[in-house]
Amino acid sequence: MEPRIGVYVCHCGANIAATIDVEQVAEFARGLEGVALAKDYKFVCSDPGQDLIKNDIKEQKLNRIVIASCSPRLHELTFRRTLASADLNPYLMEMANIREQCAWVTEDHELATEKAKALVSAAVRKVAYDQPLETKEAPMNPNTLVVGAGIAGIQAALEIANSGNLVYLVEREPSIGGHMAQLDKTFPTLDCSA
Ligand code: SF4
Repeated sequence: MEPRIGVYVCHCGANIAATIDVEQVAEFARGLEGVALAKDYKFVCSDPGQDLIKNDIKEQKLNRIVIASCSPRLHELTFRRTLASADLNPYLMEMANIREQCAWVTEDHELATEKAKALVSAAVRKVAYDQPLETKEAPMNPNTLVVGAGIAGIQAALEIANSGNLVYLVEREPSIGGHMAQLDKTFPTLDCSA
């Protein structure tokens, strides 16, 4: 299927737009191969921003999305959900980080705008090659083996058991408790360590 890529360039209020000429970046994106539309928008992660993307996916039959905004660490999941709710595979999306890796690291507007264009261009090229991915589920055995019955091992085994799962705690020594069991009392409460 021919890529029909939608590009969204976020202002993030003044976080991006005060340094980068977002309209120029969107205009640049319109000229890239495979790009069906490119828009700049104040806050792309807001509900109206996500609705804009969803409507465009449906009305303009977009099959790939590029979002030029913040770090994927912040909103990659948000935008994957946006795509999924518009019945587009959530992995047909790339983010170009024009905030942390661009707007926030220079005061040079011209250079920042040029770098933003380069980041958008790379993301557009990459998204054209993206393949839809499916989440798979597989049966698994939730039982857990904890090796070593010192304090950490005992506590881990208790946490797992208290969450309702079966746990096997193994210890190579004849008794459990590790170094702690060899102490008499502990500072500062003088509790009996055993
Ligand atoms: S998507 Fe990221 S860059 Fe855009 S408004 Fe939200 S937090 Fe800011």
